[in-house]
Amino acid sequence: MVWLKSCPRCNGDLSENQDLYGRYVTCVQCAYYLSEVEEVVLKYSMSVQVADEVEKVLASSGSARWGGRAA
Ligand SMILES: [Zn+2]
Repeated sequence: MVWLKSCPRCNGDLSENQDLYGRYVTCVQCAYYLSEVEEVVLKYSMSVQVADEVEKVLASSGSARWGGRAA
């Protein structure tokens, strides 16, 4: 998983990696290592954005699909 322009330090791109010790998220540009809390915040804010997008898509496809119901 990659988060573009989400680094709290340099606003660079973050990438999720995995090694023997588990998962971790680092910045591609400055090698900043996110704390667990920062990871949670990142994922939470991402899921909020995704939820927003899903809602928008549902709203628009809903109106397209059901708008002409009278016909
Ligand atoms: Zn960075």
